[in-house]
Amino acid sequence: MLSNIYHLAIQWCSFILLRLFLLEKNSQLLYAFYKMDLLENRSKLLSIAKEAQGNSFAPYSDFTVGAAILTRNGKIFSGCNIENVSFGLTICAERVALFKAVSEGEKDFLALAIYAPKLVTPCGACLQVLSQFVSAPDEFIVISSDGTGRIGEWTLSQLFPFPFTSF
Ligand SMILES: [Zn+2]
Repeated sequence: MLSNIYHLAIQWCSFILLRLFLLEKNSQLLYAFYKMDLLENRSKLLSIAKEAQGNSFAPYSDFTVGAAILTRNGKIFSGCNIENVSFGLTICAERVALFKAVSEGEKDFLALAIYAPKLVTPCGACLQVLSQFVSAPDEFIVISSDGTGRIGEWTLSQLFPFPFTSF
């Protein structure tokens, strides 16, 4: 009787371990596929950012910016910079895209594309706000294009290694 229980316990343990192993392997496979997909989708993300640039409201600086952000669920949200006659109320394209996504229930992100007349990175304010909603900053990719064929690419960790996280 005792040996039967022992045998059953061993069987269950090995079954659970096998399941965990398969799950882990499966998620790594899925992640590899996702990475491949992301590489292929860089141009898609940039073209959505370029399209958003067309809606930019920048009568003061004339520096028009478009952004597109990819959620962990695979959705893309776009944004443009919106200036105001009261300059301090101006908001960057990156935060517009992010806030649109968060307001639609998205809380984790994988990549951000920026399209501007110059090769730029997000400002410090946008990087801080982004950091709040990125669970894997080492893997989060920021892609930037100035439309001349030059493309910059960084991870969030490279651009903003020490975000403010608690008080
Ligand atoms: Zn900004």
